[in-house]
Amino acid sequence: MVTGGAGFIGSYLANALLTRGDTVVVLDNLQTGRLANLEEASASPRFHFVHGSVLDELVVDELVHQCDVVVHMAAAVGVRLVVEQPLKSLTTNIRGSQVVVEAAHRYRRKILMTSTSEIYGKNSLGPLRETADRILGDPSIVRWGYSTAKAVDEILANCYHRERGLPTIVVRLFNTVGARQSPAYGMVIPRLVQQALRDEPLTVYGDGRQTRCFAHVLDVVDALLRLLDDDAAVGQTFNIGSSEEISIGRLAEAIIARCESRSRIELIPYEEAYGAGFEDMQRRVPDTTKLRALTGWQPRYTLADVLNDAITEARREAAPRADLVSP
Ligand code: UDP
Repeated sequence: MVTGGAGFIGSYLANALLTRGDTVVVLDNLQTGRLANLEEASASPRFHFVHGSVLDELVVDELVHQCDVVVHMAAAVGVRLVVEQPLKSLTTNIRGSQVVVEAAHRYRRKILMTSTSEIYGKNSLGPLRETADRILGDPSIVRWGYSTAKAVDEILANCYHRERGLPTIVVRLFNTVGARQSPAYGMVIPRLVQQALRDEPLTVYGDGRQTRCFAHVLDVVDALLRLLDDDAAVGQTFNIGSSEEISIGRLAEAIIARCESRSRIELIPYEEAYGAGFEDMQRRVPDTTKLRALTGWQPRYTLADVLNDAITEARREAAPRADLVSP
């Protein structure tokens, strides 16, 4: 069972599970997920889609009962969504996870809980190990509400493991990119690519010197499968992400060059982008030693591959579809 499986990463995971012969049930409320993401999965007779929410205890109970492993990905994600709808993000992420973990416990199902690099907050010392300190600002800054909700999810999973013996795995996903990632929820690469292809200014927030590492979604899914299959991963927490660090300013330049765009870069103050009282992290780099040592995982894609895929897909989406063009 993949909650949030119509989302960007969840849909790739569903495809990978089907390809290796599993039967997959996706539960998704389609608020940020899209049915179009499941086009490939839907072709399989071993795929089932349920339109519903992780907040619906009856639906979750029934589906978890039918499955043997649960991957909990359903969440209100994306900095823009979190900033615009902090209450919804908080309740979905805390209450939804509680419903799913409780059902997993009821039927003794292994559960993989997806968490986030936001856990580390403003700790910019990078590369960040799983044991690195969390450095969060004032809780009235809404961004830290998301980090806190996800920390509650992690604690919930860990408590169920330690006190009730539930087989749980926690993963912290760092920035993940690939075809089909929507620009609608604020993620930087699909946004900048869309702007470059339209020859619009590329909106770089702050001074553009903040850095991130962007992993290819297929590498992330590979890591998820390896952890799901490894009994030694149970009861543990793992970072998943790329180590190729780039500033957002340099990223914007690279996107303009690759798109052969006439766009320029426009620096936008954070308060203009996200409202007053927003805090960003200056540097975010994962240490993935633990994941590599346990599973032998290694990324197969570079940042250049990530950008090429994002650009190819955005070009394809922007092009008029032949079957929709009138004769
Ligand atoms: N960002 C940007 N322009 C945009 C969207 C995002 O400069 O149009 C910046 C954002 O402020 C952050 C980085 O790009 O420093 C990555 O943002 P994203 O929302 O993709 O992920 P985050 O790492 O913040 O979770």
